[in-house]
Amino acid sequence: MSFFDLKGMLQPLGAVKQLGKKPHTINYPFETKKTADRYRGLHYNDLQVCIGCGNCSTICQNDAIDMINIEGVEHSRGDSGLRPRVDNGRCCWCALCVEVCPTGSLNLTKDYIYVTPDANAFLWTPGVDNPEGKNDISFTSETEFSLSMYNRVPMRELEGSERVKSFAEVVLGYNEEEARAEAQRCISCGLCTNVCPDTMHIPEYINAIASGNDEDALRIIYDNNPFPEMCGKVCTRQCETVCALTHRGVENDPNDKGAVSIRWLKRYATETAPTAAKIKEILNPVIAEPNGKKVGIIGAGPSGLTAGYYLALRGFDVTIFEAKAKAGGMTVYGIPKYRFPMESVDKQVEYMESIGVKINYNTTVGKDITFEEMHTAFDAIFVGIGFQKAWTLGMENEEIQGSIPAVDFLDIINRGDKYDVGKKVAVFGGGNVAIDGARVSARLGAEVVILYRRRVEDMPADWEEIIGAQEEGVRIDPQTIPTKIIKGADGKVAGVEFLRAEMVADDKGGRPRPVAIEGSEEIFECDTVIGAIGQEADYSWLPESFKDKIEIKRGMMIVVNEFNQTGDPKVFAGGDAVNKTADAISAIADGYAAVKGISKLLLGHE
Ligand SMILES: Cc1cc2nc3c(=O)[nH]c(=O)nc-3n(C[C@H](O)[C@H](O)[C@H](O)COP(=O)(O)OP(=O)(O)OC[C@H]3O[C@@H](n4cnc5c(N)ncnc54)[C@H](O)[C@@H]3O)c2cc1C
Ligand code: SF4
Ligand code: SF4
Repeated sequence: MSFFDLKGMLQPLGAVKQLGKKPHTINYPFETKKTADRYRGLHYNDLQVCIGCGNCSTICQNDAIDMINIEGVEHSRGDSGLRPRVDNGRCCWCALCVEVCPTGSLNLTKDYIYVTPDANAFLWTPGVDNPEGKNDISFTSETEFSLSMYNRVPMRELEGSERVKSFAEVVLGYNEEEARAEAQRCISCGLCTNVCPDTMHIPEYINAIASGNDEDALRIIYDNNPFPEMCGKVCTRQCETVCALTHRGVENDPNDKGAVSIRWLKRYATETAPTAAKIKEILNPVIAEPNGKKVGIIGAGPSGLTAGYYLALRGFDVTIFEAKAKAGGMTVYGIPKYRFPMESVDKQVEYMESIGVKINYNTTVGKDITFEEMHTAFDAIFVGIGFQKAWTLGMENEEIQGSIPAVDFLDIINRGDKYDVGKKVAVFGGGNVAIDGARVSARLGAEVVILYRRRVEDMPADWEEIIGAQEEGVRIDPQTIPTKIIKGADGKVAGVEFLRAEMVADDKGGRPRPVAIEGSEEIFECDTVIGAIGQEADYSWLPESFKDKIEIKRGMMIVVNEFNQTGDPKVFAGGDAVNKTADAISAIADGYAAVKGISKLLLGHE
């Protein structure tokens, strides 16, 4: 035996001399051995920044991360309320979880557990078990080199100077390659679904698009939304505001911040079915046998049509009474055609009619048929009348020629009739309806100014609409309070008088208020004044005898329960006349909720 062999045998015994000595490293956090700067040790999570998206858990190849409830963190808008817990017995410190964390809240630190007899000590809730870990971070992710894709695939659209010449659709839509690339950005966290008023299956249909299954995407979408083309073009997209990717997104515009383009992807999916017949072929709807129950619906807007569609699928005999010549409500008669073309509505309505939804056009409830007659003839009623009546401005000369509410103006143009706005137009208001009135006037060749009481950043209109209007030459004059419509010698509108306003902080912590500056009167000479300060419902069809049962709050909103059922158990209601959000997707959600309520009432199950 050589000397080297002997050393090999005796050397392990050298460890014996360490016995009884204090170890260099013991359990975190009592005493630590200094580690290299890039040492990958325990995770640290900034609990306030984390949104509980679970992407870290999904990516982990060792199943080392589960998502748990922790004390002090609640579920909220855009936050699941869950936080990751790491099993360090499984973790291999590859840091993939850190790489894909869309908020950047998850990191690795230089801390570690050396040895412990307590197996549970390896179950680690980053940020809870090591709140001071933020001072010891060794590995973090950088968006520049991230595996996540924070940049949205841009949408192609017509140039401002081009689009103002016609009512051609502004947005051109994604092609297949763009849609697949955009869909692949989604991390399937589902935070968006919780925020969508209709809780649409967003990650599921985006995944279907990402993997090339466009028809599956359409089927998934139709599961609880029979107006995907409308939502794909004009949805208010509350979902996108909470998309996980917004947290580190590139701010390529003031608001989308890199959110997955949920609305445009939905639009793309609907383009796989260019006709009503194709929608039917793809969906191949299963229509239940007639159940013998009749439902009458007032109004063929998004809420009434949604209720009608799903009721018909469930075997109900559905009749919709619609005052106008076309179905679609405000999405047809309010939203301008450069945003939502008529063919898009027609094909969706035609498909609904093809599965048995009956629509009696040009039939006003309260005039052509009474509510009492409906109440007797039907087993249940759904009221989806929307907000048809514009608020008046309460201003001198409001009734003269050249002064018109925006919804009436848009109605005329959308019907294909003519309205001469002249050379100059003043629009009052800061919401989407005001912007629509302004952009349509610009398309009719007028110079347009929007007079708005507060600042541009306070405008309730969608940022995209505000920018779109400005690109088309519409001028926004903020902090202006119109006081008078000026009548010309010909009895028509000659201009508008307004006061400048200063923004004054609100003592109660609310948003700053506009206060008119004395002596700041100015006049804007114009031919047309378009008022867009709000709308309300017309309840003149509702007989007095029903008013004690069907409660209408402050003369505006019908009061309903979770199934959109009113105080009269037979009567359900939804859409603008019920919900505060007053957008198409909320109306659709109401229609869908009422279907469950009506089924419960008449069939005994949701
Ligand atoms: C100019 C404008 C732009 C808009 N832009 C958008 C947008 O970009 N995105 C978005 O999500 N939302 C938008 N909205 C809001 C959206 O259109 C509404 O929230 C949605 O249409 C409400 O649906 P609804 O079913 O409640 O009622 P409505 O769409 O208003 O439909 C109600 C229907 O009931 C009918 N009706 C009323 N009374 C009677 C009666 N007594 N008898 C028979 N029929 C009756 C009406 O004729 C109408 O067809 C816009 C609204 C306007 C006015
Ligand atoms: S990926 Fe990031 S934000 Fe999402 S749950 Fe994990 S730590 Fe939180
Ligand atoms: S769209 Fe955004 S929020 Fe929705 S599942 Fe995908 S990543 Fe999450």
